[in-house]
Amino acid sequence: MTTSAQNLAAPAVSALGAPEWWASSRRRVFYDAHTPDWTDPYQRGGVADPSFPVLRDVDPETDMAVLADAGADSVVLFAKCQYGNAYYPTDVGRRHAALRGRDLFGEHLAAAQRRGMRVIAYYSNMWDTAAAGQHPQWRLEPLPSRGSTGRWPALCLLSGYRRRALDQVREIARRYPIDALWSDILTAGPCSCPRCRAAFALEYGRDMPEDRDDEGWVDLVHFSQRTIGDYLAEQRAVLLEERPDAALIPNFYATTFVDAVLGLTTGHLDLADIGSSEGYTDWHGLGFPSFAASYIQAGMLGRPSEVLVSRFVHTWDFTLRSEAQLRFEAFTVAARGSTVTVDDQPGGTGAIDPQVYRRLAPVFRRIAERTPWSVNSRPERYSALWVGQRAREVESATGAAEAPSIGEQSAQFPPSERRDSPSDLVAAVTGSYRALVEAHLPVGLLDERAKSLATLGEHRVLVLADLLTLGDDEFVAIERFVRAGGGLVVTGELAVSREHGSPIGAAALTRLLGVEYGDRSGFSYPYLRIADDLAGTAGGATIPRTIPHYGRVRALHPVGQGSRVLAHRTDPVLETDDATYWHNNQPAPGLRTEVPVIVESRYGQGTVIVSAARLGNNHARLGHAAYGDLLAALVRRAAGTAPSVGIVGSHRATELVVGEVGDALVAHLVTGYPVARLDIPAAQQPAAIEDVASIARLTLTVPERIVTAARIRDGREVDLGMVPHSGLVELTDLDDWETLVLR
Ligand SMILES: [Zn+2]
Repeated sequence: MTTSAQNLAAPAVSALGAPEWWASSRRRVFYDAHTPDWTDPYQRGGVADPSFPVLRDVDPETDMAVLADAGADSVVLFAKCQYGNAYYPTDVGRRHAALRGRDLFGEHLAAAQRRGMRVIAYYSNMWDTAAAGQHPQWRLEPLPSRGSTGRWPALCLLSGYRRRALDQVREIARRYPIDALWSDILTAGPCSCPRCRAAFALEYGRDMPEDRDDEGWVDLVHFSQRTIGDYLAEQRAVLLEERPDAALIPNFYATTFVDAVLGLTTGHLDLADIGSSEGYTDWHGLGFPSFAASYIQAGMLGRPSEVLVSRFVHTWDFTLRSEAQLRFEAFTVAARGSTVTVDDQPGGTGAIDPQVYRRLAPVFRRIAERTPWSVNSRPERYSALWVGQRAREVESATGAAEAPSIGEQSAQFPPSERRDSPSDLVAAVTGSYRALVEAHLPVGLLDERAKSLATLGEHRVLVLADLLTLGDDEFVAIERFVRAGGGLVVTGELAVSREHGSPIGAAALTRLLGVEYGDRSGFSYPYLRIADDLAGTAGGATIPRTIPHYGRVRALHPVGQGSRVLAHRTDPVLETDDATYWHNNQPAPGLRTEVPVIVESRYGQGTVIVSAARLGNNHARLGHAAYGDLLAALVRRAAGTAPSVGIVGSHRATELVVGEVGDALVAHLVTGYPVARLDIPAAQQPAAIEDVASIARLTLTVPERIVTAARIRDGREVDLGMVPHSGLVELTDLDDWETLVLR
């Protein structure tokens, strides 16, 4: 049985109050206030000074005034934290002793709502230190192969804790006029306690697998998904029984980056009123908020969403991000149409740092100014990048660690083959996403849910990056899309995993792709030799004639109609090992072979390009622009047309977001210039932005029909005096967020 939560989560009956308000909310503060209660032996540990005055300096009236003055339109406030402490006089859970009966959550909520901010109650689900200490039988038991759950003891959702948690959510929703519930820590699983093992055996007729190599691992993924989905559905029902207008906001953090066996899947978003994803740049880089916004928006299929960014340089270390970086992170999210939720944690006594809000105020002001040009935007559909959930499940079953370096100690080159397994999902997806964003090609994300797949036809080209699994329904939809004239770009291997459903007929797949996959190269560091007619087609970027490829590459055998080989393989002079090496470098290009590695063919009315070379992965790991430029060139070629708005020159540090708002075409340009980073062993420094970017001059290509162009200044459209029908708009003196209105 391989039913996944995709099919089981009940469709949401949206009772969301004020959906338009939530859709235009852009400025939120996440008051991230987990505070230990040292009167509880399970929260005390060995070092804390029990006399330290936690929560002494919390001042709801002043604190909420500071947030409101900074321009926040909504706030996440703590009802119950990860320690399991309630910040109100609960009769269900554990009261924080330092509050001595004070209703801090209630005071906070009233102070915020009096100032016009909407209040979202924070609730920690599977982390509850107090409950885990008091009720050891409720604890989640991690699989031995996955190690401990870290510092937070986790709770099993099939234990008696489930009733407690649902009762506490009911208590919160009944007592307080909350606008929403922020439902955190749903991903501490899978649990292998006797309850969960019995439930698994009952459902699948065999023992729970112990490790990812064991048969049935994907069943465990589905079991985890259903455990979370069922719990979330009950929580939603409880919330809506008590407060029918309240929104449920489950933390759906960074899913491509999260092992699928923890149980999150986009199917759960049917139960969310507002999609939420953490987008901290110190986790996954400066490009992460953009990816997180695109991901959660695609997951929500156009319903409201938020992305969390941090006020801390290292989340959470009580540093303060530069205003320039706060701006860049917030603007990439806001320009894409998601709420910017800034995570702030109060200090040890519960006092907030007003300096955070002095820095934040101008960021929120700019967002408020631009919101009319990002609300109700219909994003331009051009390229679609596949981020299916089944691929995550296959990654969970087959993913492997990075291969260690084989180079000499002083050598400066990275290992030529970074992973031994074919599955490399995160690098493939995020590297491809970055490549398209840096090339200013509109990119939307798609997955296998029927509603998501139904939007495929609105795009020009579909990108499948190292997609090891493809279901029958997806194959049928993709075949139809290409036959009708859609473009298809495939990188790496496609549909080689048989983990799910019935395998796609090899013959049908070969017909669509126009190639058969051959053997992997014997060398781990081959080169791509780019054909003459592909070089120079990258929208201004020049593609090198020879590009190294970290990792073996499969041969392609063209069988399609009108096939053209766009790149052949050149082998290196040698394979690096302990006895054979080429100075301290990667081996130089050597023998030119006639083995195709990138092939273009026609299928129906569409163009199909297969690159056996893995471009997104190489781009993600090495940042070498050639991989990104090559992928972007293939996408443009398969699309057969350019997007409506383009940027002349490279401007890779500028993200372009294009959509229709009313009768206008609106283009947002968000720019961030990172400072040079150091990479100290054992203390990797994240990239940072310390100065607000400025660009002296920039030229946009726009559709010929455009007769006026304006930029937004102080909330008004200021005409740029473009030459009508010229197809070009000149801009000077740009800052880090420019908004152009084209008619
Ligand atoms: Zn369990």
